[in-house]
Amino acid sequence: MNSLRSLPSIEQLLQSATELIGTYGRPLTLDALRETLADIRARFKTDLETALPSTDLILAEAESRLAAWTKPTLLPVINATGVILHTNLGRAPLSRAAIGAMTEAAANYSNLEYDLSTGRRGSRLIHTESVLQKLLGVEAALVVNNNASAVLLVLSALAHRKRAVIARSQLVEIGGGFRVPDVMKQSGAKLVEVGTTNKVRLSDYENELADAALVLRAHRSNFKIIGFTEEPDFASLVETAHKAGVPVVDDLGSGALIDTARYGLAHEPTVQESLAAGADIVCFSGDKLLGGPQAGIIVGKKDLLDKVKRHPLVRAVRADKTCLAGVTATLLHYLKDEAEREIPVVRMMSLTADRLKVRAEAWRQALGVGEVVESESTVGGGSLPEESLPTFVLALSVKSPDKFLKKLREANPPVIARTENDKILLDPRTVFEEQDETLISILRSLL
Ligand SMILES: *Cc1c(COP(=O)(O)O)cnc(C)c1O
Repeated sequence: MNSLRSLPSIEQLLQSATELIGTYGRPLTLDALRETLADIRARFKTDLETALPSTDLILAEAESRLAAWTKPTLLPVINATGVILHTNLGRAPLSRAAIGAMTEAAANYSNLEYDLSTGRRGSRLIHTESVLQKLLGVEAALVVNNNASAVLLVLSALAHRKRAVIARSQLVEIGGGFRVPDVMKQSGAKLVEVGTTNKVRLSDYENELADAALVLRAHRSNFKIIGFTEEPDFASLVETAHKAGVPVVDDLGSGALIDTARYGLAHEPTVQESLAAGADIVCFSGDKLLGGPQAGIIVGKKDLLDKVKRHPLVRAVRADKTCLAGVTATLLHYLKDEAEREIPVVRMMSLTADRLKVRAEAWRQALGVGEVVESESTVGGGSLPEESLPTFVLALSVKSPDKFLKKLREANPPVIARTENDKILLDPRTVFEEQDETLISILRSLL
C-alpha cells in the first residue's frame, strides 16, 4: 500500500531541482513544486491505489508547470491568409532598417531628449520632424502612440468646447471601437453634423462654418458608400473652409505615401494629395499602408501644431524611443525612393500573380499534394475595402477543414490560413520566403 509519507519533502525536491532553479529562479520553482505536490496528494486521496511518482517524475511535472507559466502569449505566426495588413496579426511587419534602428534605440542610451550641441535638454519631437518636413514639405510634424490618439489629441487641442464640423457620411466606426463621433465627443468638441448619410454638399458646410474651430474630414477606410452619393471634392471643401477662416483637419487613416493604383488597386488618397489640396493638418497611422511601427503621425501648419504640441495630452500619448526610431527608418525608405524594395507591406503589394504562382507551385511540388489555383489577396487593415490583388494559392483538400485550420494554429510557429469551398487556402503573398521551409515541414507533418 502506498503512503503519502513516502513522498519526498519540498526541501529534498529543491535540492534535486538545481537545473530548474537555474532556469526559472528559486521562488517560481518552489511555487511549482508546492503545487505539484498538492496535486499529487489530491490525486492520491481520491484514488488510494494510485502510484506515487518518483522524484524525477515530480520534477518533470513541476517543469511543465514552469514552462506553461513562463511561455510568452505573444507569438510570431506565419500569415498565409493573403491579408497584408491583418489587424489581428499585428498589421505591418517591419523593414530590416526599421528593426535595426529600433534595436539600437532599445539597447543604448540615446539623445532622445538631449541636445548634443548645447548639452541641454532637447525635444523628442525633433527626431521624426525633420524627415517628415523633407519628405512631405510640411512646416511641422509630431509623432504619437497611434492614429486614434493623434485624432483625439488634435481635436482636444484645437476644438475643445468649440464647434467641429463633419459630414454625416463620415461618422463611421473604423476597426475595433474607433468611432469618429465618439472620439469627437471624447475630445470635448461640439460635434456639428452636416449633410446626410449619403449626400453632403458644400452649401451644407457653408451654413455651419461661422464660429467653427475646424472642419474634420475622416476617411471612411474600411467602409464604402455606393449608389446615389455626393461629397464635395476635398480641395473645394478646403477652399470653402479657408474663406471662412476655418482650418481643415484630415484624418486619412492608412496614410498611403505612394499611389496604390500602381499595383492595380483602387487609388487610396495619399498624404501628399491631402496636403496639396490645402489640408492644415493631416493625421495617419504608422503601421497601415506606410508599413512602419504602430504610431500616429500628425503633419501640417506650424501655428496649429504648436498648439497641439503644448496640450497636456501630448505627454499621455507620446511615442517611445523605439517607435520614433522605427518610424524615422521607415520614412527614410520613402525619402530614398526604395520603399518597394525595403518595406515588406509595399513589397507584398507589388508582388505579381506570376511570381506568386511560382512560389505556390514550389510548395505544391515540395508537398506532393494539393493544387495551385487563382485567388485574391487583400490589403486589409481598414484600407481599400472590396479591393483585391490577383494571386495564386495552394489549395489543399482535407477531411475536416476546421480541424485542419485548428491544427495549423497549434503548430510551432502557428500558421494562419483560410478556407474556401471546404479547401484550405495558403497564399504565398504574405508568407516570407525564408518561412517557406518551416511552412512546408509543418504542412508535411499534418498531412
Ligand atoms: C485606422 C484608422 C484610425 C485609427 O488608427 P490607429 O493607428 O489604428 O489608432 C483612425 N482613423 C482612420 C480614418 C483610420 O482608418
